[in-house]
Amino acid sequence: EERLRALADLVALAVANANSRRRLVALATTDPLTGLANHRTFHDRLGAEAARSARGGTPLGLVLIDLDHFKRVNDTHGHQAGDDVLREVARRLRGRSRREDVVARVGGEELAWLLPGAGVAEALEAAERLRGDIRGADFPGVGRVTASMGVAEHADDGPAGLLRRADLALYRAKAGGRDACVAGDGVTEVTAAPSA
Ligand code: GH3
Ligand code: MG
Ligand code: MG
Repeated sequence: EERLRALADLVALAVANANSRRRLVALATTDPLTGLANHRTFHDRLGAEAARSARGGTPLGLVLIDLDHFKRVNDTHGHQAGDDVLREVARRLRGRSRREDVVARVGGEELAWLLPGAGVAEALEAAERLRGDIRGADFPGVGRVTASMGVAEHADDGPAGLLRRADLALYRAKAGGRDACVAGDGVTEVTAAPSA
């Protein structure tokens, strides 16, 4: 009986270790505010998915999302209300994503959406649906919020090139007046016009 008790203690210890290890991994890979993947996890997954895309010849889409005039939201309604908006936008992003996608918070009010298997046209459609979700939402205590998005597809310029082209497209969406999705390969450009 003594030995059984000792064994049970060991098993309990092992389970506790496994649980705290799981918690540590979650802490290190997740953004605490939104529950999305954090910046570091995003970059790890971007590298892995880009390599897989290059090997298998399957497309890889990327959507970069930046909330519009978010400083104004904070200044008008307070930082706490701003945090609530971020959480709700993250929830809607998760709602639009598929199991194989990577959704991450890569900056203060900047999110990233990696879509393995999706080319630029498909990623743009997905981005447009999310943009519609966000602009159609009534954020408690804040009202309307919009987002701008840049879309690109993995090519032979690697993960850094993919990121750069999506960022450039996002910049064009901002420059064009915000509340828009722009997809570009660096040469041609498709703009999804803001809906009424
Ligand atoms: P733009 O349309 O050009 O993107 O304007 P913007 O005001 O969103 O852009 P800018 O980069 O000037 O400001 C981003 C703001 O996002 C600044 C900061 O107040 C806010 N922000 C960043 N991180 C957080 C956060 O974790 N919580 C809250 N509430 N606000 C944040
Ligand atoms: Mg920003
Ligand atoms: Mg912004």
